[in-house]
Amino acid sequence: MPTGIITYDITHLRGAFANAFLILINALFFNIKLIGDYTQYPADASSKLLDGEETTFDFIIVGAGAAGCALANRLSQQDQWSVLLIEAGDIPETTTAVPALFPTFFESALDTWQYRLEKDKETCRAYKNKQCSMFRGRVLGGTSSINNLHYYRERSLENSLNLIYQSIEYYPNAEGENVYEGDIQLEKINSSSEIRSVLREAYEKLSFNEALENSPLGILENYLTIKEGERLNMARAFLTSVKSRSNFFLAKNTVVDSIVTNHPIDKRVKGVNVTISDKKVFLQARKELILTAGSINNAKLMLLSGMGAKDYLLTRKIPVILDLPGVGKNLQMHVTIPMFVSLNATFDSNQSSELEFIRSVFDYIMVRSGNLSTIGIHDFSLYASTAEHPTDPTIAIHHNYFHIQDRMLAAWLNGWKFEQKISTNLLEKNRNQPILLFLVTLMQPKSRGEILLNETHFQSSPNIVGNFLKDEENEDMRSLLTGFTLVTNATETAPLKDIGAELIDIGLPDCRSYKFCSLHYVKCYIKNMVHPTSDVAGTTARGPECDKYSVVKNDFEVKQMRCLRIADSSILNEIPVGNTVASDAMLGISVSEILKEKWIKDYVSPFKAN
Ligand SMILES: Cc1cc2nc3c(=O)[nH]c(=O)nc-3n(C[C@H](O)[C@H](O)[C@H](O)COP(=O)(O)OP(=O)(O)OC[C@H]3O[C@@H](n4cnc5c(N)ncnc54)[C@H](O)[C@@H]3O)c2cc1C
Repeated sequence: MPTGIITYDITHLRGAFANAFLILINALFFNIKLIGDYTQYPADASSKLLDGEETTFDFIIVGAGAAGCALANRLSQQDQWSVLLIEAGDIPETTTAVPALFPTFFESALDTWQYRLEKDKETCRAYKNKQCSMFRGRVLGGTSSINNLHYYRERSLENSLNLIYQSIEYYPNAEGENVYEGDIQLEKINSSSEIRSVLREAYEKLSFNEALENSPLGILENYLTIKEGERLNMARAFLTSVKSRSNFFLAKNTVVDSIVTNHPIDKRVKGVNVTISDKKVFLQARKELILTAGSINNAKLMLLSGMGAKDYLLTRKIPVILDLPGVGKNLQMHVTIPMFVSLNATFDSNQSSELEFIRSVFDYIMVRSGNLSTIGIHDFSLYASTAEHPTDPTIAIHHNYFHIQDRMLAAWLNGWKFEQKISTNLLEKNRNQPILLFLVTLMQPKSRGEILLNETHFQSSPNIVGNFLKDEENEDMRSLLTGFTLVTNATETAPLKDIGAELIDIGLPDCRSYKFCSLHYVKCYIKNMVHPTSDVAGTTARGPECDKYSVVKNDFEVKQMRCLRIADSSILNEIPVGNTVASDAMLGISVSEILKEKWIKDYVSPFKAN
């Protein structure tokens, strides 16, 4: 099939058929323009900031990810307050709206902050330059605009934090099909693929049952952030309804370079220095400044602004505003081990044909249905415990299926930045066999990493020290070994055995001397393949003031600094056992209630926990 732009001579088309053809082309153009409709987002106020028309706001929020958008929505409900939401990126690219394309965003440099982790002699050796990489969304909606679309509400986290958002419950809409949570509409899709049924049967043979909403151990049909066939990023969920509010301002393509305080006069925040189109501007926060820039950038911004461990800041020649040793520490990530299994039977083969591909594109453009409106077998996951935590989900296994010669596999391998030889081996295998990918993910990591600075300006990447598998008790390795064994056990069950499921030896040079699948080999495999795929938390942890390493107090205010708060997953001492978008939105809403209680006389939060 030809790709790219090709000119065809169709002047021979005449009469009714030509008309029908034109109607079709018009309909395609009309509908394609509506994908990821940019008019749903609020207008950009950054030029007003540049012109000096607006430079003072009651509340300034840094970062339009899940937490920032939820917070901006709730604060701007108060007409008397002016609220500015600052975002370094722009409106999401159209392709991010198409659910099935989620694996391709890994390789896109657009819309993302791209990071390489500090090199470590033992881990991440299967990846280019023997180094792990990761990315976050630099776009309206933050990482929710490019993530895997799972929505996992962590009730135990809400209870342990005693957050005031906990009284909001799921409630079905009138038709009982979709689920709303506040402004977030969620869907369960359950793609009807044949391989999905086989995989579920394999897990059932290992005695896994359907997971329950409150205690997700077993097979979980994920709620997905999909609305009417398009990704519901958190900017769509929370900002569409506020775009007409005259007290709400959104500044896109605006980077916050540093936090400005009254230091040394007193310990109160004043505002932020930002860069817009290479110009520097100071913006004042009359009431409060709230950071929702994510676990990496919150810590980086604080360090650059002189808030961190005093000795460290002095070595970087940064004037010390606050001695807060916890900033950047306690970094936690849900790391993943990808495992590739070849099959000798093909599934859903109709989906891999060129004709079916064209049909999928057509269905999607015209009515937002079909294969492109789903995330394939990534829509269900297995949550499993380990011997050390028999009742908690410690391991999650997510899945992808690649048809023979699947164009998505190359995109996926590029995105994860695998060493060329490994990619070549896998693509070679995929020439004649489909591949089932198991993503074994550590949901309760014990290792702790750190965010440090490379240079002393915001545009440079931070130095991210992963410290994967370095916990003293070696629990992370044991948990991942359990996950690895679970996958190999699944391939031994009749449903997968019958279709020739076989773990692929991807040819890791470091592990060549060990017998394939021996304990030494598996440990070597885990060290080589460990990868920080998705969630990050903990770098500005919340705790009592007396705790040397806590950064924010119980009310999310930064210790020793008035009117500076942090409202996303970076304040969590322990990363949630599920993906973090739901927690981020919940944290944003919780902080909005705290701010209303502080700044509105006699305000009583309707969400107050009993
Ligand atoms: C590949 C991948 C898959 C994932 N899959 C899932 C999933 O399926 N389900 C799930 O719940 N979670 C998932 N996550 C995680 C989840 O999406 C994020 O943890 C969550 O959205 C928070 O992301 P964040 O820390 O980047 O912050 P966000 O809140 O998303 O983003 C912060 C925002 O702040 C902006 N910003 C940062 N610094 C500045 C600055 N100085 N000035 C102005 N703006 C700034 C950024 O551009 C960004 O838009 C996934 C993450 C990744 C990377």
